[in-house]
Amino acid sequence: MRKVIMGLLGFFMLLMLGACQGQTVQGVEKEENKMKSKVTSSEHPDIQIESKIIESENYQYAVHFPKMLSDKWNDEMERWKEEKIKNFEQEVQELEIPDQQWPYELHIDFEIFDATDSFISVKFNESKFLGGAHTEETTFTYNFDREKKQFVFLADLFKHKSNYLQLLSELSYGKLMEIPEMKELVWDENFQAGIDPIEENFESFVIHDGKLIIFFQRYQVGPNSVGSPMIEFEKEELQTVLRENKKNGNREQDEERPIGKEVRLETLKKQTLNPDKKHIALTFDDGPHGTVTPKILDILADYDAQATFFVLGNRIEFHPEVLIRMKKEGHEIGNHSWSHPQLTNLSEEEVKAQINHTNIEIEKVIGETETMLIRPPYGAMNEMTKQYINQPIIHWSVDTNDWKTQNPESILEEVQNQVFDGSIIRMHDVYPSTAEGLADVLAWLNSEGYQVVTVSQLLGFDDLEAIEAGKIYTAQ
Ligand code: ZN
Repeated sequence: MRKVIMGLLGFFMLLMLGACQGQTVQGVEKEENKMKSKVTSSEHPDIQIESKIIESENYQYAVHFPKMLSDKWNDEMERWKEEKIKNFEQEVQELEIPDQQWPYELHIDFEIFDATDSFISVKFNESKFLGGAHTEETTFTYNFDREKKQFVFLADLFKHKSNYLQLLSELSYGKLMEIPEMKELVWDENFQAGIDPIEENFESFVIHDGKLIIFFQRYQVGPNSVGSPMIEFEKEELQTVLRENKKNGNREQDEERPIGKEVRLETLKKQTLNPDKKHIALTFDDGPHGTVTPKILDILADYDAQATFFVLGNRIEFHPEVLIRMKKEGHEIGNHSWSHPQLTNLSEEEVKAQINHTNIEIEKVIGETETMLIRPPYGAMNEMTKQYINQPIIHWSVDTNDWKTQNPESILEEVQNQVFDGSIIRMHDVYPSTAEGLADVLAWLNSEGYQVVTVSQLLGFDDLEAIEAGKIYTAQ
């Protein structure tokens, strides 16, 4: 465990020094689908992910944020989350009921940049779909001094009364001009305002690898075609205005984590289908969850049932041990996207990134990709999106609505009313009420002569030829 014994600013300075000695770094970069966190949670087990996912008739949202051992941080996360959701719900109320195929959507995911025992930088990416052709995209960041337990704002990095905004503004112009898409534009005075030396133009920032990175909002410095550019500042460029820190400290070298090392897991043998029984597949979405999923795994084990878990890529690194247990106990792991956006609102590139990053994350933990079933978030799928997905798409035939009722008894009622031989049942392994109701569901299914198997078993995917990528399955 590395120990960092210096204040934030010392840390910032040191990081900057470190980076300057390293390899040359490209000063300008256009942001592209950087959905992977820069830091893995295994380095910081006290950082956890929290996800709030709601699927209502007219609107839906998925909001993810990190929590840690600081009330100040957690309170602020709760505050903005509630505010964003409240604003979104208000906006939705003022709009007409949408075409059912395209519910309104709010989606917020995050990337952790530098995280040490003393400092953390987090960037949030928000997108909002309120009808029409465009999705509103916004970036916001939080920087937090974990020792002093206080948020860090841009001005905190610079000398008091220095002209740092002027310098950032001037440097930004040159850096933006290095972006090919920007170069082709005649510099428009509308966009000049986007780098005026005022705080709010540069308030979206993180510190990463010793550099200060500023994120511009879409349309802030150029038309839609330039996207949301980000630019990086090296320490030398800012040293006249950077706050001095006399304290020195030694920061231990980051330990290189072996990535992609082969994992071989002893797994329970999958059941074989008993021809004398009826069959159903239980599926669980939106996990893995640190406490609810293990409870569900306990109950499944009690009933010798094997289920299928459609997991979110951005939650895996926070609960890899849960995935390992699923695999060891013979359950199937499917892909429910990286961060639960409505895929039909995304470009081809974004859809593929959502799916592929999650495939890679699963493979990293359990060492193989199995059949790799896909369940699109909210079940949202159209002809276009289907073409981008090269894996079988698994919908459901029985919806327990467990997320809505959050009532253990009603899950059993829904199953009793809708189940049939060959059906696929949908639940969520993120609500304690689902874990509470599961034993009764399994007991009843047993008494009715159902064998509970994985989706691949139910659909006969042991025979690889039987699998059709891009095909939607709802039942056997
Ligand atoms: Zn879901």
